[in-house]
Amino acid sequence: MTTVIKNATIVTGDNGRTVLYDSAIAIDGDRIVAIGPTPEVTAAHPAAEQIEGSGKAVFPGLVNCHTHLLATNDRGILEDLGFPTTLKFPASARSMLSQEERQVMATLGVLEAIRSGTTCLLEVQAEVADYAEHLEKTGMRMVLADSVNDVDESGGPSGSSSARMDQGLQRCADLIDGWHGKGDGRISCFVAPHAPETVSPDLLRRSREMAESYGVGYTIHLSQSPNEIESVMRARGVPPTHYLFANDFLGPRLVLAHCRYVNSAEVALLGQAGCGVCNNAAIAARRGAAAPVKELLAAGCGMGMGTDNMAEDMVEVMRAGLFLERVRRNDQMDPQPEDVLEWASRGGAQILGLGQETGSLEVGKKADLFMINMMRPHLVPTLRIVSGFVHNGQASDVQAVMVDGNWLMRDSKVLTIDEEDIVRRAEQVGHDVWRRLLRKYPNVPFPVSLPPEGG
Ligand SMILES: [Zn+2]
Repeated sequence: MTTVIKNATIVTGDNGRTVLYDSAIAIDGDRIVAIGPTPEVTAAHPAAEQIEGSGKAVFPGLVNCHTHLLATNDRGILEDLGFPTTLKFPASARSMLSQEERQVMATLGVLEAIRSGTTCLLEVQAEVADYAEHLEKTGMRMVLADSVNDVDESGGPSGSSSARMDQGLQRCADLIDGWHGKGDGRISCFVAPHAPETVSPDLLRRSREMAESYGVGYTIHLSQSPNEIESVMRARGVPPTHYLFANDFLGPRLVLAHCRYVNSAEVALLGQAGCGVCNNAAIAARRGAAAPVKELLAAGCGMGMGTDNMAEDMVEVMRAGLFLERVRRNDQMDPQPEDVLEWASRGGAQILGLGQETGSLEVGKKADLFMINMMRPHLVPTLRIVSGFVHNGQASDVQAVMVDGNWLMRDSKVLTIDEEDIVRRAEQVGHDVWRRLLRKYPNVPFPVSLPPEGG
């Protein structure tokens, strides 16, 4: 079955950042088979289903390189109380979700991701296999990573627990064995030691060895908070990046989430190793911080973008990334919207090891794309659509999303998830679990008030 979207503006996101007008894109099976002038493409595919694209723009699908879908449970609460949030709350509400509740909140996150033009995301979560099947059914391209730490919670002298490390690494291996390559190759897996302050040198080394032996990527949080830096300096005597470097952890398969507080020596180490960085600009701004994007790129790092916590809106992430980097550098022109779109699409695909398959609209690549309605009060006139969309676009401009040649959303309706049902259940789950936390710790001061029960 061939599909042709015709008479559209096509933002290819290719190396030359080509934008084509009154053009067509043909999709056969899971691949893009033609991009060019509408008359040529329609003539070459006379039997194709034709979709009218006038007034529409087709973009490469957005790639979210770091998220925790279950954090949708915490939105409206954890954005405003700093990090780590356990400094303010007695425990994590997320950790109190039942398996069924996890499935609901994860699906809610994917729903929001689809609605904001996302076609691929890296989900980092302990025991992600619990809801992998639900994620697979959404049709999204997914990189799944089971988050592992080996903190000794009994407070032993070394601070780390080898039993916990072994169990965590076993979960990683099971996830890869069970899921890598599933969904016609749409699902892949990463290894994910959690963060420098929660993993031992052994766990760092064994995680990288596992990733290299399976030929998959691996990811870790890095330089996320001042608290992390103090903690690693105290326990290891060096900054977090140096701790990773000393344990042979840095390399080109690695995706580092955050890198907000890295100094110039750390930036140099990351660049020399050819690491990928995921800039989670919106949550960084909410935490009052900004990654040194220009310096990381100049050093040789790959650059992707992600949402991290409480939101899955990559349209917002692009705008936040542009604003934050201009403010950080007091620069009125750099970065440009085209730079930000590249980090959120092709750059992200590259750091996830998927650059040959997705991230731009080019013949031979997977058909991962989204289409917006440009005839909106905040988008016309459409003289420079990439800039118009990054500066003024909204997730609600996205009308259609395709992954692997399949429509996940069309005519503004999500086809792979029962949206009404998930939204209704997620509203209930969120209220239930936060009240459960409050009841479990009645004597601990709670920093926010929750709405009345049954309200
Ligand atoms: Zn994270």
